[in-house]
Amino acid sequence: MTDYAKNLQDFYGREDYALLAGQQGETAIEASFKELTYIPRKTTPLPGLMAEKMLKEFAGQGAQPTALYLHIPFCNLRCSYCSFYRNPFEAEQVEEYVQALLAELEHLEQQGVFAKQKLEAVFFGGGTPSVLSPQQVSAILQKLHSVAKLTEDCELTFESSIYDLDADKLNACLDGGINRFSFGVQSFDTQLRRSLGRLNAKEEVTAKLEEVAAKDVKVIIDLIYGLNGQTTELLLEDIRTALACGVSGMDLYKLQIMPKSPLGQAIAKGNISYAYNDRMLAEMFIAADTLLAEQGARALSCCHWAMREDERSHYNTLVKSGANVIACGTACGGHLGLYKYMKTMDRADYVKKSHAGQYAVMGMGRLSEQYHLLDKLSGQCDAGCLDFALLKRYSDADWQQLLKPVLEQWELLGLLYSMDGQYRFTAKGKYYYRQLDRVLLTAAEYALYGKPGLMEQAGQKMMGLMKNMK
Ligand code: SF4
Repeated sequence: MTDYAKNLQDFYGREDYALLAGQQGETAIEASFKELTYIPRKTTPLPGLMAEKMLKEFAGQGAQPTALYLHIPFCNLRCSYCSFYRNPFEAEQVEEYVQALLAELEHLEQQGVFAKQKLEAVFFGGGTPSVLSPQQVSAILQKLHSVAKLTEDCELTFESSIYDLDADKLNACLDGGINRFSFGVQSFDTQLRRSLGRLNAKEEVTAKLEEVAAKDVKVIIDLIYGLNGQTTELLLEDIRTALACGVSGMDLYKLQIMPKSPLGQAIAKGNISYAYNDRMLAEMFIAADTLLAEQGARALSCCHWAMREDERSHYNTLVKSGANVIACGTACGGHLGLYKYMKTMDRADYVKKSHAGQYAVMGMGRLSEQYHLLDKLSGQCDAGCLDFALLKRYSDADWQQLLKPVLEQWELLGLLYSMDGQYRFTAKGKYYYRQLDRVLLTAAEYALYGKPGLMEQAGQKMMGLMKNMK
């Protein structure tokens, strides 16, 4: 039997443990952490050819929480911070891709993937799904309803730009059952938006949000903090504007500077300087979190707030707590049973394989049986509330006791506090939640599997480099 406490001594005994667990920064709202890349251990790599076997295994299992992701990898915009995989809009290529999506949905049905499952959430993401024509939107939604069963309260989300969701497209979405629209607003400030490559003025954005919200569907927006030229007051003004538009929910993300994005490259070449440090960013986040709480918004995670009682952010919650995700399209990832997989990045390959009745998977991995526990732990971190009693369902160990040294350190740093048997993240903790997540998962894997051997460390280092190359 594995001695978790003994295994963990290797983690707590690491030379860099104190830096990993975090230290007080220069001001009360800062903490400093040594950068830690988390790559899940004990995942057996498998070739994409095994995808059909994975579908069959999944089809043979009983009903489980399951979501569907539909990827539309086209976009007309060129946002400065974007490094997503997307293709410029070309009508013929979009139509060819839509036909391949329809063929793929049929193939999944024929393999029995939908037979025992009711989809709890469907998410159209991209790219920008609103590049689709109303006819294409209808065709995909009709096919979806014909091949799959949806739960009564299934959340159907459609990511959209502000400028191309015209009345016909909006109606096609509504007629097909879309009940939640997600707009990447990023900022309402016209000048800031234009500096990002988003051309609609504030008034056009608010008018579109109000128009869609009036259809009695949920309207979710993304806002970003840490944009060059953005002040805390501007961010708070954005939040007030969003509330006034009647949005149902809001995601608030820290600007990620991806090396391959136009912004990342401009900074690397010295053409733009980036002015924000951790203290300023933490200050902005904490001010936003405080305002949202004052306005009665419910924090569903460390970066998502609900303004309406019925906003659940169910797709994200499912993804982050290890539910099955059936991935349709190119350049997207899914998770079925004990497998995680990545679809092909090559659109032509995807189109060919979909029409040939193949699930176009580029690579996949078989997860350790412990992934349930690790995913739940990570999901709790994402939600900003660690509830170790709930982990008992996945493991007999006393994780609260095992992780006590880290938890005590985080209480000292003001990142979390203990209440009613749970550890709840403070606003500062929510700001740093990604670091906390990586530390907890790394510690838990030490407990479960022991210290990684040299080969495993080398493999993880390689995967980490690939991950950081984005
Ligand atoms: S709209 Fe989305 S996908 Fe398109 S460029 Fe902007 S961030 Fe990238």
